[in-house]
Amino acid sequence: MPDAERTALITGASRGIGRACAIRLASLGHRVAVNYNTHQEDADEVVETIRRAGGTAIAVGGNVADRSAVEKMIAATEEALGPIEILINNAGIISDSLLMRMKDDDFDRVMDTNLKGTYYCTRLTVPGMIKQRWGRIVNVSSVVGIRGNAGQTNYSASKAAVHGFTKSLAKEVAGRNITVNAVAPGYIRTATTDVLSEKVKDTVRSWIPMARFGEPEEVAPLIVFLCSEEARYMTGDVLRVDGGMAI
Ligand code: NDP
Repeated sequence: MPDAERTALITGASRGIGRACAIRLASLGHRVAVNYNTHQEDADEVVETIRRAGGTAIAVGGNVADRSAVEKMIAATEEALGPIEILINNAGIISDSLLMRMKDDDFDRVMDTNLKGTYYCTRLTVPGMIKQRWGRIVNVSSVVGIRGNAGQTNYSASKAAVHGFTKSLAKEVAGRNITVNAVAPGYIRTATTDVLSEKVKDTVRSWIPMARFGEPEEVAPLIVFLCSEEARYMTGDVLRVDGGMAI
């Protein structure tokens, strides 16, 4: 039996992994809110792509690190598409440097977006899920939150914190038919990794048993599965999609 058609909010869905999740969820009949922060034109393109294929989507702007912006984005989503039942906390940034050179602002910005953004979006969505007695939350973290990476103390701390958040919340809401999982991608070909030099890309490839970067479309299917009815007995897990990098 196909899943019920549900309302999904995907943060940072204007590009990369979030975009791939939005398109895939919409292709299954779900109503999708495509969140962006600065690039509305990219979010509009995702919405257009979904609508051309017969799906339902809207673009919702808002910085996940800003509580009042998150409140507005959730209100706009629910007004247009109905109560949110699926939340994918995907928005994330990097601001890399060795700890010795790190600026406090680099640390704070990464924590505010990756961890506090996940907190705000979840904090403001879970009450509705509890009321509906159904919900799916997937937090997009990183293998770097599992194995660490020189030059990314801020990023890896934010993603490791998301793992703790995921497991704790999973215990809190398990009795309400709400699952909470994290997906930890390895190196995926997106705007975030396109900026790396060829030398750094070669080094990274040498860490990956599959010897290549992944594609957003290779991460989205797992995230979308975790949002399905069939995934109802999986919660509090951190699942890697990394070509074997963290083995
Ligand atoms: P991209 O850089 O391709 O896209 C980032 C998305 O997040 C954009 O839609 C961007 O919107 C949005 N965004 C950034 N900051 C905010 C904010 N403050 N509020 C709302 N939206 C925001 O990202 P990826 O697809 O590469 O990454 C997606 C997730 O996957 C991130 O959490 C990242 O940490 C994680 N990840 C990525 C890996 C990779 O190799 N690419 C590896 C491991 C984890 P806009 O453009 O409008 O600002």
